[in-house]
Amino acid sequence: MASESKYIHNALKQVHLETSCTSINGFSISGLATYLQFPELDFVVDMGECPLSATSINHVFLTHAHGDHARCLMRHHSLRKMMGVERDSVYYLPEKIVEGAKEWIRAEAMFEGVPENKFRLPEICAVEHEKMIPLKYRKDLVLKPFEVKHSVPAMGATLYLHKRKLKDEYLGKTPSEIIELRKNNVEITREVFEPLLSFTGDCLGESLIQNPEIFRSKILVTECTFLDEADEPMSRKKGHTHLQHIVEALEKFSDKILCEKIILTHFSMKYSERHIRDTLDKKLPERFKERIIPFI
Ligand SMILES: [Zn+2]
Ligand SMILES: [Zn+2]
Repeated sequence: MASESKYIHNALKQVHLETSCTSINGFSISGLATYLQFPELDFVVDMGECPLSATSINHVFLTHAHGDHARCLMRHHSLRKMMGVERDSVYYLPEKIVEGAKEWIRAEAMFEGVPENKFRLPEICAVEHEKMIPLKYRKDLVLKPFEVKHSVPAMGATLYLHKRKLKDEYLGKTPSEIIELRKNNVEITREVFEPLLSFTGDCLGESLIQNPEIFRSKILVTECTFLDEADEPMSRKKGHTHLQHIVEALEKFSDKILCEKIILTHFSMKYSERHIRDTLDKKLPERFKERIIPFI
């Protein structure tokens, strides 16, 4: 592990990944900054830095209040105005941090000299554990947040594609039969929620075990702050995931893991890229290796 590696990170230099349902552009290194843009889903997770590419995105989810995830939330809001985006974006925040966020946003505006009568809060949506909520400008996408364990209140979420599908008993019907059924007000479709993306934010490894649904998503983004055996106690102390905990979850859920890609984020800045790739290669179960990608 090269100790000089901590000076090479640049949070505005984005990592790019392609998946079957969206591209992922962003950056995530523990303590420095995390922001993950999913442009095809019109969705960003966290705002530890705000590149111009994030300003066109209408939905921002904040996993928790730590500065490396939250710092540029209002920069997103103000840059949009500067770029001429008229529509207000929606900020989805865990309900436990909403009041604190409002005070912080107001204090920042006062600090910047915004007159009291000109101050206006952005659109903030408090999200609750397991309460499904459609994205404001993408009604086909439904967010289902869940609580995770970290050193402060924190949430992850799954984003579902909401569709209607023909019920099994009508699958063989002809178009004219279907039209006839519709005329008679027969409910021939059923709701389907297809899990596209799950993300955990910062959390202890046990949060993976407590939320097995995340392993049904096409894409899973989960943190992996610590890698070395000696760092395992530190991971628990700081409320972060250790690679060993991910390996345990993979072995536990095994065949139930349907993810096409599992993307690991938030590595400690003390590890070099080389060390991260070598350690993953050594420790990950062979059958999952192809699907697991470090976001570096
Ligand atoms: Zn963090
Ligand atoms: Zn954190």
